[in-house]
Amino acid sequence: MQIQTATLGYPRIGKNREVKKALEAFWSGKLESEALLQTIKEVEETNWKIQLEAGIDKIGVGDTSLYDHVLDWMFRFGLIPERFQQFSGLECYFVMARGKEGIAALEMTKWFDTNYHYLVPEIAEKTLSADFSDFLERVCRAQKILGNRAIPIVLGPCTLLRLSKLEPNIDIDKIVSKLIPLYINLLTDLKNLGVEEVQMHEPALVLGDANSWKEHFQTAYNSFSSVGLPLNLVTYFDDLGETYPWVIELPVSAISLDFTRGRNLEFIKNYGFPQDKRLGVGIVDARNIWQIYPEKVLPILQEIVLTLHGTSLHIQPSASLQFVPDDAKREKQLPLQLRNVLSFAEQKLQEVIFLARTITGENTQVEQDFLESNWSKFEQFSPANQSVQGRLKTLNIADFQRSLSYGLRLDSQIPLPLFPTTTIGSFPQTSEVRQLRVRYKRSELSQEAYQAAIDVQIADSIKLQEELGLDVLVHGEFERTDMVEFFGQQLSGFAFTENGWVQSYGSRYVRPPIIYGDVVRTAPMTVREFKVAQSLTEKPVKGMLTGPVTILNWSYARTDISRQEQAFQIALALRDEVADLEAAGAKVIQVDEPALREGLPLKHQRWSEYLSWAVDAFLLATAVAQPQTQIHTHMCYCEFGDIIKDIERLDADVISIENSRSNNQTLREITEAGYTHQVGNGVYDIHSPVVPTTEQILQQLQTGIANLPMKQIWVNPDCGLKTRRWSEVIPSIKNMVEAAKVLRVSVNATPK
Ligand code: GLN
Ligand code: ZN
Repeated sequence: MQIQTATLGYPRIGKNREVKKALEAFWSGKLESEALLQTIKEVEETNWKIQLEAGIDKIGVGDTSLYDHVLDWMFRFGLIPERFQQFSGLECYFVMARGKEGIAALEMTKWFDTNYHYLVPEIAEKTLSADFSDFLERVCRAQKILGNRAIPIVLGPCTLLRLSKLEPNIDIDKIVSKLIPLYINLLTDLKNLGVEEVQMHEPALVLGDANSWKEHFQTAYNSFSSVGLPLNLVTYFDDLGETYPWVIELPVSAISLDFTRGRNLEFIKNYGFPQDKRLGVGIVDARNIWQIYPEKVLPILQEIVLTLHGTSLHIQPSASLQFVPDDAKREKQLPLQLRNVLSFAEQKLQEVIFLARTITGENTQVEQDFLESNWSKFEQFSPANQSVQGRLKTLNIADFQRSLSYGLRLDSQIPLPLFPTTTIGSFPQTSEVRQLRVRYKRSELSQEAYQAAIDVQIADSIKLQEELGLDVLVHGEFERTDMVEFFGQQLSGFAFTENGWVQSYGSRYVRPPIIYGDVVRTAPMTVREFKVAQSLTEKPVKGMLTGPVTILNWSYARTDISRQEQAFQIALALRDEVADLEAAGAKVIQVDEPALREGLPLKHQRWSEYLSWAVDAFLLATAVAQPQTQIHTHMCYCEFGDIIKDIERLDADVISIENSRSNNQTLREITEAGYTHQVGNGVYDIHSPVVPTTEQILQQLQTGIANLPMKQIWVNPDCGLKTRRWSEVIPSIKNMVEAAKVLRVSVNATPK
């Protein structure tokens, strides 16, 4: 049996966010394109050397990107939608990514169930003209440094198409047959360069509908086999599901599977694996930041080896390492016990090597003991919190239910005019506000001075909201950098990195918090600002919280306890906050869950299990509220048709949603489902700087009235306003309030 090590991609933003800096300088005209491209080269060459020095045998290359790897392949295959064809070269690439006056960028959406966003290809029926020169040039450079360890990473044709938007009436077979010869050209060019193998990334194989793509996969891969270049068919993020039996028969030399999620191990045991193919064993979790537990991982690996005796194996991360930061050793401010069990990209390379050496029988006992002792030191450092554990054990059905049902509690809630107006929570984060937080963080401002300055912002915003005539006010979230980080920093059990950046999209990077221990609220988190705001007005001010599912989904989670348990722990902390806000006089409390939907598992059959605990977590956080307290939730999307029952089960009195870009499809779905609670159907798009007119907002509201009983309708923008300027916000809200007033008059004038 031959055992080697491999990688499927590496963090591509640079150790010190070089790519972001270069991109932003380039966009603002301060950097030439040559210098930008040079930065990318340096980042990728550094990456190659790190992987080479770590001793990886087969190093994935070609995944570094100026913006997004899906865009890169679209571009190389000449899949340029018509509106961009007037541009060429880099300009065209960036207009596709970011748009330009009057030319909409490509749509962006989440890459499978990760928090990375890719650009959605739009495919029209036209001749493609491919140009792979940039990719081939990279591969050549990689070969100079890595020799035959350089394994090009190519996005497979079926995944590329599966993730695309096809023009109506387009014949997918035709597109496949146009793409195949282009792929063959690419593979032939790569073969001529002397590469030993190519990774064809086809994560679409783990999606629930992959079986319906069987023929396309067979056609494509049968054609590719004519090139005579060994292909590694790479899948990740879940198991192959029902496609397993035919996927393993495709004419490729290797298949890579994810063994950190799903049931691939079971499939191998039940169906076997062809002797003549190599198996890529994705066993080091590329989606999380924890060091492996040898006692958990080694038995799985041994089982694979035993089942497949004789088959060649590659030990590798489960996916590209782009989903984890670069190097945990740099996080010097984190306690050593925690830092020692963190594993970012560099550490994961070491783990891959360790696992391969253990399997080949090399003596790695010393490393194994070391890893295990790291974990035992960590366990002493972060012991279970008895109080939260105890609370979780004694939960009962009543804890997940409001004490009165919606119909019965409704009349006791705060009286409001028809079509109540409100905003989603945040107001513009001006540079003045950001400066305040920075200076406070650097201890240049005392806590008193900082809070006093925040209170001035709150007071100004309350005054403004009163002048604008809004019905339900917000304090403005000036004290929050980020809706998850703000809560994480006040809860025990969360850690924050200094350099742990991962790409969210393009030049936007995030530093996800790490949940490392039981989550406990040690003090009220939002009550002070709420009280300040409420003391300044007779109008109701909303208490404003981020929901448990969103906090969990936007963090790196623990792996020693279930996600459900972590969501419930966070929910208990929020539950106490809801009770405290209520005690402080809040009549309206909003709990945002923008990440609830994106946490849905890739395979439909696992949705109900997730939704069951996710909705329970929201209920656990909110059901403590008195019947008189109006609970709001907010979600920045509107695809509810398939989860409307779960949305109903949240039992929020009011839900505000993004709906200004979806042709009111959601409203129709909500209506058809017979949704009885109140809905704030976002009346304008906050992602655009354009100020909506009263007319436009009225029109949007008219659709609302046509679909839902008037009593159910709220009037609000479709998301928070923190990314906008005051000069956009003020006239927009003014028009919004005006539209509500006009509507009130007009419906009162119309006999019912
Ligand atoms: N309350 C948050 C805000 O207004 C909601 C943000 C979000 O939905 N992503 O900023
Ligand atoms: Zn939103």
